[in-house]
Amino acid sequence: MKKFAIIGHDISYSASPRMHLAAMTELELDGQFEVIDLPPEQFTDFITGPFRRDYTGAAITKPYKQTIIPLLDDLTEAADRIGAVNTITNHDGRLQGTNTDGLGALAALRSVIDPTDKRVLVLGAGGAARAVAYALTTAEAKVKIWNRSLDRARQLSTDLGINTLADLTLADPADYDIIINTTTVGLRTDVSLLPAQWWRRTHTAFDIVYDPLETRFLREAATAGAVTLTGDTMLVHQAVAQFTLWHSVPIAPEVMGEAFFNESM
Ligand code: NAP
Repeated sequence: MKKFAIIGHDISYSASPRMHLAAMTELELDGQFEVIDLPPEQFTDFITGPFRRDYTGAAITKPYKQTIIPLLDDLTEAADRIGAVNTITNHDGRLQGTNTDGLGALAALRSVIDPTDKRVLVLGAGGAARAVAYALTTAEAKVKIWNRSLDRARQLSTDLGINTLADLTLADPADYDIIINTTTVGLRTDVSLLPAQWWRRTHTAFDIVYDPLETRFLREAATAGAVTLTGDTMLVHQAVAQFTLWHSVPIAPEVMGEAFFNESM
């Protein structure tokens, strides 16, 4: 039986096992999916030993998305450009790393708008922002990055060849079609980086935070008549991309989406 896992530290809660198990059940594929919580001192030994020997694939999560890179044999272009890996696949003992976060964000966005040639403001320059911004450049969107720490925004802009917005308070709403929050602002708190009056009905607002799903950022955008997109859509689509890599068959996002919401599974 093929073995899969999500590997991280302090990850007692993860929707990944139930989403992947629901997809395997749907397609009548045999497989296990474990949550493996490793302290840093055990991480390298686990990947180079048991994982390489016994597992087919793993989702890699905090704090190991960068630590994993030197342990891999191959990196996809996406993982290399993003500088982080969230998915590893074991090809007969050769470990390949990729990053499906950006693919997930792009697929989610495409369910409401085609980002090609759209003016996109990405708030944040952390790990998720790098994946989202990279994916948007592959879709030929016109991306601008704002981040609280300007040096980090500048670094990401240089890495991807995109522009930086230095001062968010000077952002003109008319300059953007799509606004994406990739920061932790709004995570379990009712705050937003943008004031309510900033939003326009022409905007598409995407918040990748998924706890809660309806953040203040999205609530205020919706009140102004904007199209809104919640963070679960990215999570589901990045898992769909992982599943396709590992099993070489597509799975309907609805199967994983239903499992995401069914906490009793
Ligand atoms: P990260 O690498 O730690 O980056 C955190 C980002 O938030 C940085 O840009 C940071 O800015 C910014 N930030 C934190 N506090 C802030 C504040 N008070 N004001 C302004 N900016 C602030 O984290 P990450 O891995 O990118 O994750 C970010 C969020 O995305 C998390 O909520 C995570 O759950 C979510 N996420 C969702 C998905 C999905 O599939 N939906 C996937 C991945 C991540 P500085 O650089 O200035 O510190």
